[in-house]
Amino acid sequence: MHPSTPSQPDDQPADTLADELPSKLASGLAKVGLVMRHQAWKAADHAGLSPTQAQVLALLHARTTGDGLTMSQIAAELAITPATLSDSVAALERKGLASRARDQRDARIVRLSLTPEGARHARQNAGWPDVLLAAIDTLSDDERAVFIRALIKMIHSLQAAGQVPTARMCPTCTYFRPNAHDSPERPHHCAYVDAPLAELDLRLDCPEHTPAPAPEAQRTWQLFVHGAPLTPRRPAKPAKPAKPAKPAKPAKTTKSAAARARRVRSPQPRKES
Ligand code: SF4
Repeated sequence: MHPSTPSQPDDQPADTLADELPSKLASGLAKVGLVMRHQAWKAADHAGLSPTQAQVLALLHARTTGDGLTMSQIAAELAITPATLSDSVAALERKGLASRARDQRDARIVRLSLTPEGARHARQNAGWPDVLLAAIDTLSDDERAVFIRALIKMIHSLQAAGQVPTARMCPTCTYFRPNAHDSPERPHHCAYVDAPLAELDLRLDCPEHTPAPAPEAQRTWQLFVHGAPLTPRRPAKPAKPAKPAKPAKPAKTTKSAAARARRVRSPQPRKES
């Protein structure tokens, strides 16, 4: 056998193969992550920015609704320390790409927003690297649907572990109704746009996302993962237990019956002839 030829699955017990699967998947994800990081660095370098500066511009471009974002919001979104962010923001201000200003309603809050030059810059560099989009294009619709569900579950788990700061995904949104429709093509529903959703329609970073409150979020997540309908039919009422039979009333004793009973209990002695 060629040294690089992988061993056949028959050669190994099934439990060994299953044990190796998480490592194989993690290794594959690391390879994709490496490509993404490399592409991001290349694009940032080309634009004369550090990777963090490029991330700050991209975030402001994606999230800014006019007022900009606070420093703590940006640090949380990018999962970086305030010190790292502070250096990057100072550099962006020097380059004329972003500026800080006090909030008009609360002067204690400072917000960072894009300058017109920064917005132009962010627009030009928005979008994912072609090489990554080309790789995703090789997947069939079925493979994408499985992939997006797998990603949502992984991101949800990482978020619960405190490793992903924010994830504006459908299954954590108050407007999401998992498995609300009988249609296998479009089983879910978005109450915000009042439209059915296919698995491929699920969003991982939706601007309209509104976090569901804790008990509702947990229920929605369980329904999404386990495929149960949102409003399951009420289970049939259990049959009422049969009433215990009433003890039979003792039969009314008539005079003749009482007399018969006395006769049974106390047989009369025979008359001597
Ligand atoms: S508002 Fe956005 S995140 Fe929420 S269910 Fe609709 S599409 Fe999904």
